[in-house]
Amino acid sequence: MSESIEKVKTLIIGSGPAGYTAGIYAGRAALNPVMYQGMQPGGQLTITTEVENFPGYPEGTDGPAMMEDLKKQAERYGTDVRWGEIVEADLSKRPFICKSDDGNTIEAETVIIATGASAQWLGLPSEKEYNGGGVSACATCDGFFYKGKDVAVVGGGDTACEEAVYLANIVNKVYMIVRRDELRASKAMQERVKKNPKIEILWNHNTKEIVGTSMGFTKAVNGAILINNKTNEEKKINIEGFFVAIGHTPNSGIFKGQIDMDETGYINTVPGTSKTNIEGVFAAGDVQDTIYRQAITAAGTGCMAAIEAERFISEQE
Ligand code: FAD
Ligand code: NAP
Repeated sequence: MSESIEKVKTLIIGSGPAGYTAGIYAGRAALNPVMYQGMQPGGQLTITTEVENFPGYPEGTDGPAMMEDLKKQAERYGTDVRWGEIVEADLSKRPFICKSDDGNTIEAETVIIATGASAQWLGLPSEKEYNGGGVSACATCDGFFYKGKDVAVVGGGDTACEEAVYLANIVNKVYMIVRRDELRASKAMQERVKKNPKIEILWNHNTKEIVGTSMGFTKAVNGAILINNKTNEEKKINIEGFFVAIGHTPNSGIFKGQIDMDETGYINTVPGTSKTNIEGVFAAGDVQDTIYRQAITAAGTGCMAAIEAERFISEQE
């Protein structure tokens, strides 16, 4: 029995702000895009409540509701949004061949990779328990909720330092929980942290547990139990926000070895575009963004990817 192959102009992999925005633009450009949503339909914003910094929502909005609206908007213009994920991709020649987990084989003239990135977590049960209720992996997103309060940032890299400095402008005090006796961050970033009177670095400390109150859906952090890994001493810090900044993992595993990436797996794009090193393959959103990782930047690059895909197809035709 011969395997059926579906031919599409544009395949969008991922359904976060980047994927849906690409869907809106590609749909309106009559590319009849097909989208695979992946394991997290709607992407990272579906695990948050309040989104206050996406333009157009003066009162803020609810993450899952916003993603549902983006989905409807993409579908309205003809994006075929499907359950399931892409499990294999052959980008070695055009048209590109991708396989979904439900056994479909798709031959795509252009591919928009919008698979996002995932924050790394410490793996503590309490971190899961208070996620979205005091625990966060994004100071730009959630810092505002802790105005005038005390918070902690875990990690010693550039991201942790940036988060700590950002938070110090908003909150009363920032504890930086660093597992070694030095920071991994660049010298310039280290200086900014060390000079900031609102930041106290707790060297050689690990987090044992985050503590707080939990009543149904209402959760609030009120502290963290830390262990000094040199002396084994335990102490509690009183904080209301706990920010984990120990790195992100881009969801680019299935493209490894086929497309240019940096050493951590972020897909390289030509600066100022969504073009990858493979003609006809575009990358948008967090999977290619080591710096901003925001919904609006993901949406912006999703728009770029769809416009570039449309131009690429027109040029071929
Ligand atoms: P993502 O949203 O990460 O979506 C990736 C998509 O790819 C998912 O749908 C996934 O299922 C899919 N996928 C992955 N692999 C495959 C595959 N093999 N096949 C098919 N699909 C696949 N940003 C803000 O601007 N404001 C905020 O207030 C804010 N709050 C946040 C709160 C939390 C808790 C988190 C975690 C993030 C927050 N962010 C916020 C960051 C924002 O969510 C991300 O920057 C944004 O979602 C990135 O969009 P994206 O489209 O690149 O990818
Ligand atoms: P990173 O450089 O990998 O740093 C991760 C930090 O988290 C390290 O300090 C690490 O400790 C710590 N860590 C990891 N796992 C931990 C755990 N389980 N418990 C406690 N601490 C843990 O990640 P990043 O800071 O996200 O940066 C990623 C890349 O982006 C880097 O190349 C960075 O330079 C770059 N970046 C640049 C900028 C900028 O230039 N403005 C901003 C952000 C990021 P150890 O040091 O002990 O391993």
